[in-house]
Amino acid sequence: MSKTFDKNLYVRKPSGHNSPSANQDPTELLKMSVREIITLGHPALWKKAEKVNDVADDSVKALMTDLRDTLLDFLKRNGFGRGIAAPQINVLKRIVYVVMPDGSFDGPLINPEIVATEGDLVPVWDDCFSLPGLKVKVSRFDKIRVEYLNEKEQKHTLKAEGGLAELLQHEIDHLDGILATDRAASPRDLVSVVEWERRFRKEESS
Ligand SMILES: [Zn+2]
Repeated sequence: MSKTFDKNLYVRKPSGHNSPSANQDPTELLKMSVREIITLGHPALWKKAEKVNDVADDSVKALMTDLRDTLLDFLKRNGFGRGIAAPQINVLKRIVYVVMPDGSFDGPLINPEIVATEGDLVPVWDDCFSLPGLKVKVSRFDKIRVEYLNEKEQKHTLKAEGGLAELLQHEIDHLDGILATDRAASPRDLVSVVEWERRFRKEESS
């Protein structure tokens, strides 16, 4: 999926910046469309995104490129990041882009919908590009079924579990204007990354 973007991205040197800068190779800039990620407090993050009606439209294709580039740029600069939703770059359209590190999923999900859940809600620590420095304890289903369109407007059903299931619930929440902070059972389930590393990392990996 979307393999056309790959080659150039992986040869790009890390810029260390969110926006183009003078010390970046200008030929690299032409290949990238990294957008600003909006963060907690920006009202667009609490708005419901609109359904995509015309997947073949140029603006939708450009949006998918922007999401992929912005996600991979974040990953490169921060060492983590698997998914992004269009509202996080201030575009209220129902598109999520996921690149799983194990290669189990790589591409856009257009108009994704959770059509079934299975098993119990389990507590997980969420992080989010839009919540820098924060970890939030939320509850997610371990297994879900998601229907979506791919970039060729083909309908797919994805059975996801574990990390991918958690991620998709998080990203689809973004399309409904819901942040991890809105899902916290208590304000005390919001923890700084610094304290989380000290107190909870062990719990997570056990
Ligand atoms: Zn997020």
